[in-house]
Amino acid sequence: MTPSHIATDVAIVGAGPAGSLAARRLAAGGAQVVLLERASFPRDKPCGDGVSAAGLAILSHIGLGEWASRFTAPEALRLSPPDGQPLDVQPKAACYGRTIPRRLLDARLAQTAVEAGARLVEGTRVQNVELAGGAGVTVVAAGLKVTAQLLILADGSHAPVTRKLGLAQGPPRFVAARQYFAGDIGPPRRMEIHFQNGIGPGYTWLFPMGEGRVNVGTGSSIRRVRQGQASLREILARFVADPRATDGRLARAEPIGPLQGHPLRTQLGDTRTHAERVLVAGDAAGLVNPLSGEGIAQALESGELAAAHALAALEAGDFSARALSPYSRALEARYGPDWRAARILQLALNSPRLLNHVFRRLRRDEELALLIAYIIIGHKSPRLALRPTTLLRLLT
Ligand SMILES: Cc1cc2nc3c(=O)[nH]c(=O)nc-3n(C[C@H](O)[C@H](O)[C@H](O)COP(=O)(O)OP(=O)(O)OC[C@H]3O[C@@H](n4cnc5c(N)ncnc54)[C@H](O)[C@@H]3O)c2cc1C
Repeated sequence: MTPSHIATDVAIVGAGPAGSLAARRLAAGGAQVVLLERASFPRDKPCGDGVSAAGLAILSHIGLGEWASRFTAPEALRLSPPDGQPLDVQPKAACYGRTIPRRLLDARLAQTAVEAGARLVEGTRVQNVELAGGAGVTVVAAGLKVTAQLLILADGSHAPVTRKLGLAQGPPRFVAARQYFAGDIGPPRRMEIHFQNGIGPGYTWLFPMGEGRVNVGTGSSIRRVRQGQASLREILARFVADPRATDGRLARAEPIGPLQGHPLRTQLGDTRTHAERVLVAGDAAGLVNPLSGEGIAQALESGELAAAHALAALEAGDFSARALSPYSRALEARYGPDWRAARILQLALNSPRLLNHVFRRLRRDEELALLIAYIIIGHKSPRLALRPTTLLRLLT
């Protein structure tokens, strides 16, 4: 059977937050866009479902503010160091973001792309991409060929197509898994982050979802998980059963659905984010915050940014690597310094002794505790923790 053929300005692989935002912006800017997605909506994506304040601002900007406001907004934060003595902090309400199930968020975002005029092709796994220089890009899926002037890769942390093109080097360095629970989950609007022994630089989280449900998950570096010789499933089971961790709350709650895991690409430098006729956005570009593990806001932001650069390239008719390079420079300027600082702070998360020490300081210094809380939830730059005056307060 001859595959059907679509000719378009821009082809996008992956309709997660990055791909859908790119498609929406391009279509709104007058470009023809085909958005190719392996799954069919509504589809799930293993995630903590925590959309940060920065992510919410982008949702508002694209007209989804009211839609997002129906989801649970945490009002308190509990941080728990390896010694198990919790520290309760109270960031300003507007800084938490909201817990929005990805099954709903991603379907809504894909819908906004379609409403703007993008053509969404679901249930279609992209198998190959042919870059034919002056002739454009051909995207190949079962039974379908799409030819385009430009390709945006938003294929997530597995990044199968980005890797196939040789743009993503090396495997992802982090991995995380989550499961939903229902029952007595504690204060219904409290977010919890537990720095368990043995999983640094990762942590275990509880994000409230409303109606007695909570998103519980754990993540760490793949190296650490392998060193500890325990799977994320075993780490989470231990956490749930530990009476100290959540006063036995989770052991009494009911798991809803399976534990699901996914890798996280946190290394900006591991991906070449542009090449002739190609831009890479979201997780595939290594934009997951190395400290908090959050990536939704960056996926949304980089999707928009990639679209803006794609529109400029279409306007100029220049798709050379050189013409597209300002996109990579913009990503580096936006995230590079913070990602490098975050990796330094990861060293502290690797040491339970140091972490317990820092928490003893935080208990005596409310202002410092608030700053560290903001950094942990991705609301403030990790660079702030590395200022000499802050380091002095944290360590002495
Ligand atoms: C357990 C866990 C918890 C997390 N918690 C949070 C959190 O609370 N807050 C937060 O901000 N971030 C969190 N993250 C990170 C967040 O999930 C990602 O940063 C975000 O999903 C990135 O969006 P994306 O669009 O780049 O990629 P994705 O959301 O992964 O979307 C990629 C899309 O590409 C599609 N695709 C892949 N290959 C192909 C192909 N060959 N053909 C067609 N389609 C393809 C996939 O089906 C998918 O729909 C978490 C991650 C994990 C693993």
